[in-house]
Amino acid sequence: MAAPSLADVVDALEGRYPVTTAAEWDAVGLVCGDPAMTVSSILWAVDPTSVVVDEAIDAGVDLVITHHPLFLTGVHSVAATDAKGRVVHRLLESGIALYCAHTNADVAHPGVSDALAAALGLGDLVPLDPSGLGCVGTIDPAVSLADFAAQVAAALPSTHHGVRVAGDTAHLVRRVAVCGGSGDGLLVCATAAGADVYVTADLKHHRTLEHLEDGGCALIDVAHWASEWPWLAQAAVLLEADLAIQGSTVGSIVSAVPTDPWAMSIRGAH
Ligand SMILES: [Zn+2]
Repeated sequence: MAAPSLADVVDALEGRYPVTTAAEWDAVGLVCGDPAMTVSSILWAVDPTSVVVDEAIDAGVDLVITHHPLFLTGVHSVAATDAKGRVVHRLLESGIALYCAHTNADVAHPGVSDALAAALGLGDLVPLDPSGLGCVGTIDPAVSLADFAAQVAAALPSTHHGVRVAGDTAHLVRRVAVCGGSGDGLLVCATAAGADVYVTADLKHHRTLEHLEDGGCALIDVAHWASEWPWLAQAAVLLEADLAIQGSTVGSIVSAVPTDPWAMSIRGAH
């Protein structure tokens, strides 16, 4: 089978993750690249940062697909005078295109949260929120919150953020809500869905305390990057299958470079 054009890849991606399903504030789609170019290989990453560009250039890929957008607000310059301008320049100089699928991949099924749920071994998935964000499933057999947290740590890539647990660690966990990325907007939904624990990222002090004080479910807070990382392999497999139906083939690489920003963590001695 022949390699597809970038236009073919974009069509296949937007069949899975229609741009019309992205949030109004979001900026998804093709960032740079000629639709007529041939795409033989793709690097999938969560963030379009300089280290991911390094990885793409080293791997010799034609396209980088990231979950997070490079630009979320209007720009009037892509000069190589700031980090994002340098990303654009280095990609174009290397003949590499960039595509972003963000909130349209969050609300898709399968999408970002389904991939997180699958990584954690959840079954019987249903959406957590009617908009499609997040999902709820079950683990069998039920385990303690402490043991489930250990399972989460084993299933996701290691980060200095680690896996933080709020709630009674001896409590049995069977029903689990998840939302890849920043999921504090669904805390009430998770409790209302009957979840014993809600796994997400970017949980802050006050919201977490208030949730627990109000009798909310237990919480597991993981690194934002780690919570979305399982989507990369899921999406790569789906895209390869969609392209194969059209008679074309691409190679896929899932980024091995953690873009979680924290480089070190130390627990207090007391
Ligand atoms: Zn995210």
